[in-house]
Amino acid sequence: MRSIDPRDFRVARRGTSRAINRQIVLTLVRTHQPISRADLARLMKVRRGAVGLLINELIAEGLVFEGAKGQTRRGRRPKFLHIDSRERYVLAVDIRITRTFVMVADLVGRPLREVTSFPTPRTPPELVRELAQRLLAIVAEQGAGRCQGVGVAVPGVVDETTRRVRHAPTLGWKDVVILEPLAAATRLPVFVENSGKACALSQTWSSQADAKGDIVFVTISDGVGVGVVVNGELLRGRHNIAGEFGHVPLSIEGPRCSCGATGCWEAYVSNLATLSRYLGQTVDQEKSAPGSAVSLTVEDLIERARGGDARAMDTLQSTGRYLGLGLASIINAIDPVRVFLSGEITAAWDLLEGVVRAGVAERALNPSGSDTEIVVVPPQEYPRLRGAATLVVMPTFAAPAIA
Ligand SMILES: [Zn+2]
Repeated sequence: MRSIDPRDFRVARRGTSRAINRQIVLTLVRTHQPISRADLARLMKVRRGAVGLLINELIAEGLVFEGAKGQTRRGRRPKFLHIDSRERYVLAVDIRITRTFVMVADLVGRPLREVTSFPTPRTPPELVRELAQRLLAIVAEQGAGRCQGVGVAVPGVVDETTRRVRHAPTLGWKDVVILEPLAAATRLPVFVENSGKACALSQTWSSQADAKGDIVFVTISDGVGVGVVVNGELLRGRHNIAGEFGHVPLSIEGPRCSCGATGCWEAYVSNLATLSRYLGQTVDQEKSAPGSAVSLTVEDLIERARGGDARAMDTLQSTGRYLGLGLASIINAIDPVRVFLSGEITAAWDLLEGVVRAGVAERALNPSGSDTEIVVVPPQEYPRLRGAATLVVMPTFAAPAIA
């Protein structure tokens, strides 16, 4: 149970309980929709009339709508409550070394149209300029007044207060400001967060009744992003750095990492690390850019392995082993109920699961740690974009801070 901090607290005022109940209604509708008023009251263990006023208020504000009569076996058919996404949308952005992805999502994080992408421009000002142009073009088509804001997931450390990107090693960014210029250019609210943290937020937020217990989200791409949710809250630490397991060393003598150190977990399991091992040469941002010397991708490598290329298979298997060893560190440190794993490499999960689990078992301190559930989130579910969308919509649903 969370304790009250005697130096920093807010007293519950009249209306606080109402505000909390309002968030509970919103959260239950979001996670159980479509849901009838009667079922909602049952879930809240209150009389139906007690939730009626709150629901009417949320309907009047356009956050919830009632419709789409459902099927029941007999008797009258109740109306069902839904989160009202009909008039609102959010823009989600996932910035990566080679490409930047954009998704138009509804208030529950579901894509409303096909995800688009463009090559990530070299410098942050160029990126902001191109991104703003593309977002404004979408807004012109979708309707300006209906856009709730822009969520941006970046592969780096984001300052919790200023939202500056302090350090994004794979992008080569240090102390970069994108929030203000993007907000100025689009005239939309902009939210920026580390991609691993955004994924973890979205995962914990979208889960239903099984959301109990601590979770970890690991996203493997050009780098490695990790987000940790403990007691229902994202672990941030003092500088919003907590959870950077990608830069915990597997071996101090290991390969050079994008952060400048050697032997980080990321330097063993990122897409660039896997490709470097396969090609016998260091693959970096320059070399992996489209049209340059190395145009091989992890997807290609998986295809080669499936086609009988033994070296491709060996390479993937060693990445799998390193993946397992690093996951064991996370499991030993956090002891989560579940680890979510995403990234291009998970397309080879059928080939890698055994070796990943063996790696976890090899280092897990508690034998039951090796049973920790590992849930693969496939790339086509766009977890990072869903995470970015969550940054915009979550404040509407978040519990009010009272303690
Ligand atoms: Zn590192």
